[in-house]
Amino acid sequence: MNDLLQIENLSVSYGAVQALRGVSLHVAEHEIVALIGANGAGKSTLMMSLFGHPRAQSGTILFAGQNLVKVASHKIAGLGLTLVPEGRRVFPQMTVVENLLSGQIHLAGQRPDLDRVYQAFPILQQRSSQRAGTLSGGEQQMLAIGRGLMARPKLLLLDEPSLGLAPLIIKQIFEVLAKIAATGTTIFFVEQNANLALNFAQRGYVLVNGQIAMSGSCQQLLTNDEIKKAYLGG
Ligand code: ATP
Repeated sequence: MNDLLQIENLSVSYGAVQALRGVSLHVAEHEIVALIGANGAGKSTLMMSLFGHPRAQSGTILFAGQNLVKVASHKIAGLGLTLVPEGRRVFPQMTVVENLLSGQIHLAGQRPDLDRVYQAFPILQQRSSQRAGTLSGGEQQMLAIGRGLMARPKLLLLDEPSLGLAPLIIKQIFEVLAKIAATGTTIFFVEQNANLALNFAQRGYVLVNGQIAMSGSCQQLLTNDEIKKAYLGG
């Protein structure tokens, strides 16, 4: 399979804090790939660095063959990759439908495809004229994913999609993500909940102190003793 995302030797720092050190990873078209790691390992930094904030110190980030490190930040979202950020970041004063429409801002001239999002998350249609700030945490996560889908991404990036949500809502959200993947969208996501992540993805990477410490199929990672001890509670 062709690689949609190929990161080579990526290093990123915040002043004196070296957040990523020589990270290399790849995500093939139509794959579901997880990045797991403890608090502060650099997971969010990696996701955000794809969009140029923070800028890569060195290394390359190839997306569909184009080096994102050389593309102006404001142009990156228009290339077909969308990030659902940690903590949802919906616009609380705007309605659900306004939030969704804000997701397709890079698709100038194309008709918005609200139906796809409403099919995935029917609750968003019911709440379409409600302010996003009044939604529950789970509904806000659905809205954040829905807003991401509005951009019709080839690669959907998610930062901690399960964070702070009840198990039943997490199950619901991951069922929808599986359907989204089945329609051909490639998914690369960050999760602190390693058990959840490795049971959902096909392959995984483990980030420790800004470096890839291990990678493999989820089957391999789930049965690895070090991973079991460090991330799977035994
Ligand atoms: P979490 O799950 O807690 O978000 P993470 O794995 O996503 O953790 P990052 O948020 O990417 O980790 O942080 C990686 C390192 O970079 C940490 O040492 C963190 O303190 C540092 N860091 C993150 N953002 C900044 C910033 N804006 N300025 C300075 N240091 C930062």
